[in-house]
Amino acid sequence: MAIAPSLRARDAEATARASVVVLAASAVVVAGAAVLDPVNRTVPGQIACWTAVALLLVGVVACRLVPADRLDGHGGLLAIPLVGAALVSVTNLATGDTSAAAQVFLVMPALLGAAKFRAPAAALVTAVAVVGNVVVNLLLADPVRAVTDSLFTGTALTTLTVVLAGAEGRRESLVRVLQQQATIDALTGLVTRRVLDDAVSDAVGTPPGTALVLVDIDRFKAVNDVHGHPVGDAALAHVAGVLARAVRRSDAVLGRMGGDELALLMPGCSATAAVDRARQVLEAVRTSPLELPDGSLLALSVSLGVAHVDADGRPGDLYPAADEALYRAKRAGRDQLAVAGA
Ligand code: GH3
Ligand code: MG
Repeated sequence: MAIAPSLRARDAEATARASVVVLAASAVVVAGAAVLDPVNRTVPGQIACWTAVALLLVGVVACRLVPADRLDGHGGLLAIPLVGAALVSVTNLATGDTSAAAQVFLVMPALLGAAKFRAPAAALVTAVAVVGNVVVNLLLADPVRAVTDSLFTGTALTTLTVVLAGAEGRRESLVRVLQQQATIDALTGLVTRRVLDDAVSDAVGTPPGTALVLVDIDRFKAVNDVHGHPVGDAALAHVAGVLARAVRRSDAVLGRMGGDELALLMPGCSATAAVDRARQVLEAVRTSPLELPDGSLLALSVSLGVAHVDADGRPGDLYPAADEALYRAKRAGRDQLAVAGA
């Protein structure tokens, strides 16, 4: 059964790796305590300690052998700090140990929960740790000691969780913003060249072939020089919008290569269909002037270079071929298209 996304690890691979470190370190410490600490030399103490060591090692093996995503999807990664938190309290109860050293061990699961999971899961782990500790303290220590110890440990664990989970949440949203900036061009809303390059590699191989159309605004420098950069920016965004309306997003990837050069990638497209689509784009830009702030219309045009590879073609051939065709279209007078190899 799959668990809710809010209870899954932020990054399953990284969480599995961190879990191995925490579980292995805990197993070594508990084994050491079972051998060296007289508190643990009772029969229940030995049973509790060695059961804990066995469970910790099972966790290590599971994290190493089971793919992290699968483990995470079934709640296996969250079970590590949750079971860990319960295990610390059960072991402390069995060994009759309410020392600071015994309670401080609850930091391990709380740390794992706060650093590697989102707020709901982190809160759940810390709640299990805090409640388990209160129960153990109430059962083993005198009431005053039980309350003060529970308060100290509970406050420390809760503070750790709130601060760490908050910092991790902010880091995660920053990464999301950076990822978005790396994939979407802010001015045109089209994907960036990085995304387009990946899409080219993925697309080639799709029958009947893949087409790349490079679209470059004609004499764009003059638009900037005459009307200023804000109008230049508006013209770029305008042409991107015209392109977006001229093609079906479902069968094309639209991107900004850089500067005033846009691109249209069409996987599973014949050479004839690609040329037809390029002609539609040419016509659409011609007939869609940009309205300036004073109400006047600024005519724009583009030049296009069309390249096509068959399903057994190479991705690396597309861009140079489309680029060569684009420059032929420019040299031939602009406001037209040229086809690679024609
Ligand atoms: P051609 O017809 O040969 O393409 O001429 P062009 O003037 O369009 O070509 P060129 O490469 O000389 O100029 C492109 C200009 O695009 C130069 C640069 O200042 C401008 N540019 C690039 N990125 C942006 C942008 O984000 N905003 C604006 N406003 N201008 C940009
Ligand atoms: Mg240009």
